[in-house]
Amino acid sequence: MRLFECGTLVPGCQWHTRANEDAEVVRRAVDHLRSVHGEEIIRENMVENIKARIRDEGSTEAA
Ligand SMILES: [Zn+2]
Repeated sequence: MRLFECGTLVPGCQWHTRANEDAEVVRRAVDHLRSVHGEEIIRENMVENIKARIRDEGSTEAA
């Protein structure tokens, strides 16, 4: 699983999401940033920032 914690981008935010694919994590994170943090326009570098903060969540399940 891939994990993104919003707190790495927006200090203090406890929201996080996990998915099998980076693309899905990014999609959900963008959704969250729009609805919760009022980011109306998601800039290209925002997506890069999200991607840079996605990390592998320790899992024994192989993809
Ligand atoms: Zn957040």
